[in-house]
Amino acid sequence: MKPFDVVILGAGIVGSACAYECALAGMRVAVVEPAVPAGAASAAGMGHLVVMDDSEAQLALSHFSRELWRELREALPQTVEYEECGTLWVAADAEEMEEVLAKQQRYANSGIASEMLDERALLEAEPGLRHGLAGGLRVPQDGVIYPPTAAGYFLSVAQQRGAQLIQGKRPVRAAEGEVVFEDGSRLSAGWIVIATGTDTSLCPWLKIQPRKGHLVITDRYPGVVRHQLVELGYLKSAHSVSTDSVAFNVQPRKTGQLLIGSSRQYGELKRKADPEMLRRMLDRAVEYMPSLKQLSVVRVWTGFRAATPDKLPLIGPTPDSTVLVAMGFEGLGITNAPGAAKLVLHHLTGAAVPMDPMAFLPSRVARAEAVHA
Ligand SMILES: Cc1cc2nc3c(=O)[nH]c(=O)nc-3n(C[C@H](O)[C@H](O)[C@H](O)COP(=O)(O)OP(=O)(O)OC[C@H]3O[C@@H](n4cnc5c(N)ncnc54)[C@H](O)[C@@H]3O)c2cc1C
Repeated sequence: MKPFDVVILGAGIVGSACAYECALAGMRVAVVEPAVPAGAASAAGMGHLVVMDDSEAQLALSHFSRELWRELREALPQTVEYEECGTLWVAADAEEMEEVLAKQQRYANSGIASEMLDERALLEAEPGLRHGLAGGLRVPQDGVIYPPTAAGYFLSVAQQRGAQLIQGKRPVRAAEGEVVFEDGSRLSAGWIVIATGTDTSLCPWLKIQPRKGHLVITDRYPGVVRHQLVELGYLKSAHSVSTDSVAFNVQPRKTGQLLIGSSRQYGELKRKADPEMLRRMLDRAVEYMPSLKQLSVVRVWTGFRAATPDKLPLIGPTPDSTVLVAMGFEGLGITNAPGAAKLVLHHLTGAAVPMDPMAFLPSRVARAEAVHA
């Protein structure tokens, strides 16, 4: 008998959530992490738990996942800093207010609570925003967490259920139920789940591109911002596939600090912060919230999102019947990790999920290319 039912490669938030689900389902689980658990994108992300409505599939996965986070909130340790602060989508003008209405209808059709705000109500909700904005949409059940400790929670529950963490060894091959490590050692399992973020060295056929982002964190200013604030144009920025872009995106942390984002860059692989992108990102933030200019910044960092051609993650089986992937989460991997783990469990055991798993199959990229060829 093979020593493990499933070996999960990568202990970011996605791999850790997969380990959690598989261990709770009674499987014998190993998790392989060559570096630090949750030390890559999952340490760089903002931790906004948000229902995103840019496609039906994304809406279904992010809604399902946000509800899973809400169900977990009593169990999560304090260090996860879960807070249901809500998202406030900010509309700058009348055209964006029309999009607010359309967005509210899409949410309502899926049973997601949201509330339209006019200019006065927007300023009451967030007095620091500039005057003259048109209004917004409040999605009260969205929240924020601190992602590294959330990933740590999933991993520790999995370990309490017997999962083994293998750290410091780098897999160089994963196929036919066997993982081969750099040092030549091997590990066999019924299934392998590749959850290695932007690293496609084990599955080079996947179309994933790193997309750099900058974040800034301020000193402590409790109460200055109450919701996760996002400009309505955020999706335009997230969906732009060629140009560098910035969007107003500010998050209140439980510590009173503010996280300020966001930027997106393709083809930029250097970790170093780019002063020009930072300037553009902070100018955008100050344009929406002038008082931010007075606050002290304590740290700046960058991270890489794993972007796919159609903006949806790749979750499910591959041509090798022993290998699944759970990758390509772009800017939504923290939100979508619990739902992605349920989808992985669905492919392993047939457990039900409240959405169409086909929408996330890795084969769809190859299929779409064949159709367009
Ligand atoms: C600036 C920024 C802001 C973001 N904000 C948000 C947000 O507000 N909300 C949200 O939902 N998402 C957000 N994201 C996205 C989110 O951070 C990612 O989608 C998520 O962390 C991806 O998790 P992961 O487990 O797939 O990847 P990672 O966290 O990158 O983990 C992959 C792991 O695999 C390991 N690994 C690499 N190669 C191998 C190998 N050969 N074998 C085994 N293991 C390997 C790595 O060491 C790493 O630990 C943001 C991202 C960025 C960069």
